[in-house]
Amino acid sequence: MRLIDSHAHLNSDAFDADIDAVLDRMTQAGVVAAVTVGCDDADLPRLEALLARRPGFLFGAWAVHPEYPDHREPDVDEIAEVASRPGMVAVGETGLDFYWCKEPLDWQRARFRRHIAAAKIAGKPLIVHARDAEPEALAILREEKAGETGFVMHCFSSTVETALAVVEAGGHVSFTGNLTFKKNDALREVARALPLERLMLETDCPYMAPVPLRGKRCEPQYVEYVAREIARLKGLEAEEVAEQTTRNAIDFFRLPL
Ligand SMILES: [Zn+2]
Repeated sequence: MRLIDSHAHLNSDAFDADIDAVLDRMTQAGVVAAVTVGCDDADLPRLEALLARRPGFLFGAWAVHPEYPDHREPDVDEIAEVASRPGMVAVGETGLDFYWCKEPLDWQRARFRRHIAAAKIAGKPLIVHARDAEPEALAILREEKAGETGFVMHCFSSTVETALAVVEAGGHVSFTGNLTFKKNDALREVARALPLERLMLETDCPYMAPVPLRGKRCEPQYVEYVAREIARLKGLEAEEVAEQTTRNAIDFFRLPL
């Protein structure tokens, strides 16, 4: 199988001790690339150091995460400039989070709009984090015409209705190991309902390890479990899911693969 992990946090300190072994296991599992996501100023140099070590294998995305109310707020030009650096393929993760943060959240909405503007300037797609806020995040994406530059709703955990509206608005949906969690029957219905051409796979590692590894540190090699789960749900071969979602990720992030 040829797989891509479209959302990983390999710059996390959870991987400090054994990053080379993690990347080796990733290669052995057929994962040909990972998009690794930095969430604040402190993450950026770590992310860029990682990209410089493994160009063409690790790609980057950066934005101040919606969970952080009090971090420095880069302006649109700075975000666009970072998104245009070598190896950078997207702006994110960005979006709205009404689970961890409570109103008033106009700072979160303003940050999201700034990120969308920067992505359009840089000509890069957006990685969207939306938690308990999917309909409003989608409304903002529509209003700002984010479909023009492309967006993916990552670690998707909303309804079939919202997922179909994302596709309708020109967006993609990606699933993590949460698709394999026992209680997530409703999410499995979402995966069944969506066209394979709009799906991507991710681990969101070091979080969200799939069953049967739930609770352990997650790593990119486990993206295979997400592919197998989607294949099972759609009655397809895992290889077919791997090939199409890899093609989707290459096109979406415009990866030189
Ligand atoms: Zn993430």
